[in-house]
Amino acid sequence: MELRLALGLALLCSALQAAPAGPQRPRSAVGQFWHVSDLHLDPTYHITPDRTKVCSSSKGVNASNPGPFGDFLCDSPYQLILSAFEFMNDSKEQVSFMIWTGDSPPHVHVKELSTKLVISIIGNLSSTIRNFFPDLQVFPALGNHDYWPQDQLPVTTSEVYNAVADFWKPWLNDEAISTFRKGGFYTQLFESSNSHQPLRIISLNTNLYYSPNKETVNITDPANQFAWLEEILETSSQKKEKVYVIGHVPVGYLPYARNTTAIREYYNERLVKIFRKYSSVIAGQFFGHTHRDSIMVLLDEEEKPVNSLFVAPAVTPVKSVLQTESNNPGVRLYQYDIFDYSLLDLWQFYLDLRDANKKNESNWKLEYILTKTYGIEDLKPESLYEMAKQLSMPHSTLFEQYYSNYIVSYDKTIRCEEGCKTCQICAIQYLDYSSYTDCINQEAVWR
Ligand SMILES: [Zn+2]
Ligand SMILES: [Zn+2]
Repeated sequence: MELRLALGLALLCSALQAAPAGPQRPRSAVGQFWHVSDLHLDPTYHITPDRTKVCSSSKGVNASNPGPFGDFLCDSPYQLILSAFEFMNDSKEQVSFMIWTGDSPPHVHVKELSTKLVISIIGNLSSTIRNFFPDLQVFPALGNHDYWPQDQLPVTTSEVYNAVADFWKPWLNDEAISTFRKGGFYTQLFESSNSHQPLRIISLNTNLYYSPNKETVNITDPANQFAWLEEILETSSQKKEKVYVIGHVPVGYLPYARNTTAIREYYNERLVKIFRKYSSVIAGQFFGHTHRDSIMVLLDEEEKPVNSLFVAPAVTPVKSVLQTESNNPGVRLYQYDIFDYSLLDLWQFYLDLRDANKKNESNWKLEYILTKTYGIEDLKPESLYEMAKQLSMPHSTLFEQYYSNYIVSYDKTIRCEEGCKTCQICAIQYLDYSSYTDCINQEAVWR
């Protein structure tokens, strides 16, 4: 209850702040939707004195400080996932739909899973979401772990695509389901009673472009998804529709690894080109996979910001024993303009895992409101670009805030300086090879 009141007050404050001189946006003109990603359920998670046996996903390593809501060396216990959806449900936020960007099974050795197990985990989480939100429209996307063996998503129909299509039938229409069976991607219109025009969702199977996917090596257009995407976007542009692109593995460069795209470079160049060409149709792009919270701004050839992209943090808190950083579990709420689907704001919520385990209570809280934290007007490309410029200033305290949000307040003492900051800053603004490389090479100049 306390949380609800705090949320209400915060909303009020932000609404007051966001209403300067000029025409005030009526409250009813704002739509909302949830974004959840990377649930990574570990069904083996249980509390036991032998810390090597708490979860398979720790891969024989001692769990660090296991509690009822999980451990930073383990994937999600079911109780953590339930607490996330319980929180979303209890918040009573009015949402029009939810996007769910994949990765349900745990990070375990390939021999510990099977096609059957992977299918049953995706089925379990699909029905969990449906039980919590029986009337809510959900738009899911497949992740690289939503297959067995992991990452090897095929370019033709498969047992997994077919089984998942059956789980997702309550949310998707016949045409979307039939496209999905063939390649693990789909498009569907979202019609809402309070919006002037429908919104088109394009759920991409970017796992086909993921570097470890051996099924697609040397294929120029896996499952003909590029051709399909261009055709959909061309039609959308003629019909003056607005589109949200959702997917698991993001386009662009990884914020934590120098010179490394998440998908193969060739595919990345191709996607960036398509997104630039149709940037006026695409009102937002939403991904997961890195488990961290980051933004990207797509610039056109003249360095004009043309698209806003968001990578949502994971629900799973897992990290490998060699990593210094992880993330607290997170879920987020977006606000959009119901007239043109432009993005207005983002509310990031999180669970302080150490605190939750200590108190045996899941107290999901607001972590930050994007426009408020970074002092920008909305989430449109121009505003995000302005934010990126602020972050790239030397000794920017806003960048410290950005990095703390990047790891979902995992550890305030971790700093990201010099090379770490360069990678983050270049990845935010430069999504193609040539502009990214220029950014990295000019490190000494801008820093
Ligand atoms: Zn993941
Ligand atoms: Zn992934």
